[in-house]
Amino acid sequence: MKPLLEWIDRHRQIIRGVTGALLPVALGGVYAIVYMTGGIRFVYSHSMYLPILLAGFVFGIKGGLLTGVLGGLVLGPWMPINVSTGEMQNLANWLYRAGFFTLVGFLSGAASDGARFYIDHLKWLSLHDSGSKLKNRNALFDELTRLAGRRNESGPFVLAAVALENTMELKSTFGVPVIEAAVQQLAVRYGEIVGEPTVYHTETAQLAIVIADSRQDVERLLDAMIAASQEPILFSGIPIHIDSRMGTVALTPEIPPAEVCLQKVEAALTVAQDVAQDRVAYNPEIMRGTQDNLIILGELKEAIKSGQLSLHYQPKIDIPTGTIHGVEALLRWQHPIRGNIPPGDFIRRAEQSTLIQTVTEFVMTEAVGQIAQWRKCGIDLRVAVNVSPRDLLRPGFSDFVIHVLEQFDVSPELLELEVTEGALMTDMNQTIAELIKLADLKIIISIDDFGTGYSSLQYLHKLPASLIKIDQSFVRRLHEDVYASSVLEAAVMLAHKLGIKAVAEGVETAAAYEHLGAIGCDVAQGFFICRPLPTSEFESWYATFRESAGHCCSGTGLQIG
Ligand code: C2E
Ligand code: CA
Ligand code: CA
Repeated sequence: MKPLLEWIDRHRQIIRGVTGALLPVALGGVYAIVYMTGGIRFVYSHSMYLPILLAGFVFGIKGGLLTGVLGGLVLGPWMPINVSTGEMQNLANWLYRAGFFTLVGFLSGAASDGARFYIDHLKWLSLHDSGSKLKNRNALFDELTRLAGRRNESGPFVLAAVALENTMELKSTFGVPVIEAAVQQLAVRYGEIVGEPTVYHTETAQLAIVIADSRQDVERLLDAMIAASQEPILFSGIPIHIDSRMGTVALTPEIPPAEVCLQKVEAALTVAQDVAQDRVAYNPEIMRGTQDNLIILGELKEAIKSGQLSLHYQPKIDIPTGTIHGVEALLRWQHPIRGNIPPGDFIRRAEQSTLIQTVTEFVMTEAVGQIAQWRKCGIDLRVAVNVSPRDLLRPGFSDFVIHVLEQFDVSPELLELEVTEGALMTDMNQTIAELIKLADLKIIISIDDFGTGYSSLQYLHKLPASLIKIDQSFVRRLHEDVYASSVLEAAVMLAHKLGIKAVAEGVETAAAYEHLGAIGCDVAQGFFICRPLPTSEFESWYATFRESAGHCCSGTGLQIG
């Protein structure tokens, strides 16, 4: 049935032309048959249904009605009841038949129009997003295939993909419709820059734009699109900032198959998202990197099982007393072939999948096991574990933490959880509820990378945090940037006003350490004090530190090295 309908759809114009020419002949033919078979009293008048149904099917309601009326007239006042006697029909007789024909014409036309409307709607739906009404991924696919088919005629062209970044934050604050509004308003802006029909809505929060033909000014157009993305959108009259990233791929002179174009542009977009850049252009290295990432993730689970993952420990120093506040557990992956894979290369990817659960379970068990181990040797150290947004949103996360503490008989005060500021934005209410549950158990909560998120300030007083860790970017710019120093001071003051401690990470120099002490920062962590070290090396560092602290235990008299 489907091929037949498609064939009819493709040849609609020809069928209309042929039917239009055939109908007068058919009407005349029916008249002749009825007349020659002796008149209207015989059954042959029913032949008129054929042209009427055909007209309704091909031309819809209008065609069905018209042919019904004409059919009624053809077999009407001039058609005798009995040709041999010449007896004519009375008015009511042929009018009734004409009315009946017209009704049949109307019904067949209505059925045909309805079916056509439904088919057209299905066709539209397959090529458009029903919410934004913009062309969708299938339509883009068709367009890319069409361009690839015309490879010699069409000039070089650029495919761009734009993704909204802060969708979680937007949805949790304004609800799902804000995403649709953002997509629609951005599509209009891009449409004005590059021409409306070339903007496609390819994912819930993603647009693709085809800049075809041989325009010289592609770079200028792309810059204009970035600038347009940075203008706030309006939602319920409120101006809202949208974070977006763009990936581009120049497809010239050869245009690869549509799926390859999409794969390339989305790989470039992923890199733009990973490195937080406005725009990234595709190059072959990117694809290799993406493939590597996926392979790495595929190997991660096995790596945990086969002991390739371990924890390094980096101390944090309480500045006023010069004593150890605790240590941060940082994950390390020693791959048998690739060597050392830094956490930045796999944690973020793992966080986007359920793999992070396995990673966190491993880290938590190792870290708490290490606390117990150290206690046996007389080392009383609090260990901080990094947890991901997904961990906090997972049902039963706090039960798992309690279980591990019980398993190793470790007191909850010796465990600290570092939660990044961005993590809090995913689902504020559930995250806060989970953190309160953990803090009630006396587990220490600290807000990591403080100063890099957007709006956690307004929630900070609701969080059961005992520490904020000011992001290392501020600490490292301390001596070259007055702004960074002001932010640091303000963050320390804010922490103290809220009755919690301020931690500075990324402390690389003695000068930075001194400066932090002078502005009242409570805790410092960084390469100046000690790099993250494997357990045995950390234990040696710790022994030396304790020894030197025994000789020197004044306020900021930290003996490093
Ligand atoms: P983070 O939690 O902000 O960890 C601090 C990072 O800064 C660590 O990088 C540490 O080695 C580095 N660092 C410490 N002091 C200095 C310094 O003075 N200068 C400089 N330049 N860097 C310093 P690392 O180990 O590569 O970890 C990177 C990120 O990976 C961490 O950032 C954390 O977000 C994530 N991560 C590491 N381990 C885990 C883990 O077990 N679970 C989770 N979910 N994330 C982890
Ligand atoms: Ca951390
Ligand atoms: Ca941090």
